[in-house]
Amino acid sequence: MPNLQKINAIVASLLDWFPRNARDLPWRRTHDPYAIHVSEIMLQQTAVKTVIPFWERWLRELPTIDAAANANPDRLHKLWEGLGYYTRVRNLQKAAQVIVGKHGGKFPENFDDVLALPGVGRYTAGAICSIAFNRPTPILDGNVIRVLTRIFGIAGNPKEKKTNARLWKLAEELVFHASRITHHETKSRTRMRTKGEEDCCSHLNQSLMELGALVCTPRNPQCSICPVKKLCVAFKESRVAKLPNLGPREKATVRRFVAFVCERDGKFLVRQRPAGVVNAHLWEFPNFEAGERLDAKTIFQSQFGFAAPEIAPLVTVKHSITRYRITLEA
Ligand code: SF4
Repeated sequence: MPNLQKINAIVASLLDWFPRNARDLPWRRTHDPYAIHVSEIMLQQTAVKTVIPFWERWLRELPTIDAAANANPDRLHKLWEGLGYYTRVRNLQKAAQVIVGKHGGKFPENFDDVLALPGVGRYTAGAICSIAFNRPTPILDGNVIRVLTRIFGIAGNPKEKKTNARLWKLAEELVFHASRITHHETKSRTRMRTKGEEDCCSHLNQSLMELGALVCTPRNPQCSICPVKKLCVAFKESRVAKLPNLGPREKATVRRFVAFVCERDGKFLVRQRPAGVVNAHLWEFPNFEAGERLDAKTIFQSQFGFAAPEIAPLVTVKHSITRYRITLEA
């Protein structure tokens, strides 16, 4: 483990840097745990720029936990449409229902209670508790992993248990030391822009995320302007490009789907996806995964049980998601 002096120096540099460099994001202007919860769930797998209008609309239409708990699921889906990963929105409503049913409608402040909410993992619980309640709860996501492996020169693969546990421990040490910063110590620093000195845990965690998003990026990190460059092992040892060590990339898998846009008398055939599959409950044109060589006519015949009266290519859409390279022919 690094010495206390180094931990303190990193914490001080990050707390000094954050208020002057952080992006002014709408969820950073609030302490409302519900609003922060919504932002954290939306930000899973989704870029900040995409999330902002969705988050603002959600909070406008469902401003309270009660409103989210009692909303019609179709309305929730509509508010989520375009964000993808729809399990998130269903869990968000279940979480709101748990808060209403079990915590009297008041967002729980205890880490274990937050962690027990549907759809909330260790990272999200840590983020909510630190940002909303300024608790010294650590966070570790892709950005933080990159920052920490570089600052501390950690060569192990973060997906491996031992290295992962070490990174959580470091994240915990950092936020714990931030929690010990007193009002007196922070006085000499630039005043926090959005909140007060009492937000050290919140700011420390957010500074790790923000440094990873803006400065310590996967490619071409801007070490020359980095607030912790003097303390960074990877920078000192010219190992920045080698960290984090994520192991060999998973091989891409090609998948082909054929969708049928069937029209009769100006009406189109759609179906609702069943529960328990990807994008469950969403409406779609009937589509089928097919081998590379199967033609649309054969697929239609086998799926619908009769020959298509007329069939013509409409559009081909290509989309990559995780390791899948998907082609959909309509
Ligand atoms: Fe990342 Fe470079 Fe800063 Fe080290 S000095 S934390 S590698 S940006």
